[in-house]
Amino acid sequence: MIISSRVKTITESVTLKLNARAVELAESGKKVYNLTAGQLPFKPYSGLVEAIKEETENLKSYQYSPVPGFQEVRKNFISNVEKTRKINLKEGFDCVLSNGGKQSIYNALAALINPGDEVILMAPYWVSYPEMVKLLDGIPIIVNSTIFENFEPSIDDIRRAISERTSTIVINSPSNPSGIHLSEKWMNDFGALMLEHPNISIISDEIYFDLHYYDPAPTYFYQKYPELLDRTIICDGISKSLASTGLRIGYVVAPKKLCDAVSKFQGHTTSGPNSLIQRALIGLNFQEIESYLKPINHHLRENAEVIRDIFRKAELSHLWYQSVSAFYFLVDFSRSPVMKKYKKGENDDQDYAEEICNDLLNNHGVATVPSTDFGLPNSARISLVLEKEPFQKAISELVKFLLN
Ligand code: PMP
Repeated sequence: MIISSRVKTITESVTLKLNARAVELAESGKKVYNLTAGQLPFKPYSGLVEAIKEETENLKSYQYSPVPGFQEVRKNFISNVEKTRKINLKEGFDCVLSNGGKQSIYNALAALINPGDEVILMAPYWVSYPEMVKLLDGIPIIVNSTIFENFEPSIDDIRRAISERTSTIVINSPSNPSGIHLSEKWMNDFGALMLEHPNISIISDEIYFDLHYYDPAPTYFYQKYPELLDRTIICDGISKSLASTGLRIGYVVAPKKLCDAVSKFQGHTTSGPNSLIQRALIGLNFQEIESYLKPINHHLRENAEVIRDIFRKAELSHLWYQSVSAFYFLVDFSRSPVMKKYKKGENDDQDYAEEICNDLLNNHGVATVPSTDFGLPNSARISLVLEKEPFQKAISELVKFLLN
């Protein structure tokens, strides 16, 4: 059997290997603090659970939905996006539901890029963006950002990355993996730059929109420049805000022309998403989501404070930054004492993230995600979702390792 070159171009995830090792260690009886979670380990919003129960009684739910999803759910999502982002979506906009935010983003990219087109991504990025672009025969162009700029990529660097082949720019705010959202000033400057480039489309991945624990709340470039909505694709879903990753509902809200293209593509790949869950979402009251998420956001804030306090006590404040949203934090190995064990000389700037994370797991029982998959060297992503007490222990172990 010959495997296609398309699939061969995709890189295998380092994260999966590390996760397998974490499970192996835990099964052998070793205490493992798993900080790799990419999802909230909490019960979903009870209103949704009840609605699903009710819908299981309704035979209609077991049939195909229209390819873009049921009209009522799409309308519900559009009006929630309008309310929460404080924008007016006129007649020309629509919403297409799919099997999760991931599929929505892939569909949008499939609808936008031709072979050889360039797609600008901001590192550290969500692991799947470059792989999706490659699968579609596009070329990922990476703009870097560092902890020193609070992970806000410079607008000038983005300007320099734009070429005649640039089809699309993907932004992700709040961000996985950095746990920050881009400032209003950044968004306004980005919007102004986009006005200079009328042929570029923007995918705004807002899957973590509702998860933020420090003010100000996330804002977007299209709020100041609503004319940019004509070439913006907003991607969101229920995975994070409703703690429902496994129910697989995501959506795009975008100009109708793009939605029609996404629908056409989806019609021949997966059809409409799970009809049962869709029907349960028809009556979803988004107002209640806010109170559902309140204690969760509070919990994330407390764990962010745990990192600050333990790092400060260990005199590692220079490695700390204020995470404010999503549920991640990036640990910078490159400036911590442990790095000297790995570097082969002063000027060695190779990426040892995988090796470092392996040692952290094997010697201290702390499972993290090596930053290699996010386009950032010598760092690791940790997740803030664990209960406070084990989280404190995990961070203390992590700090012991960093000081080693
Ligand atoms: N975008 C980002 C930044 C994510 O972190 C994720 C999920 N980890 C997704 C999109 C995809 O979400 P879903 O689970 O709904 O496919």
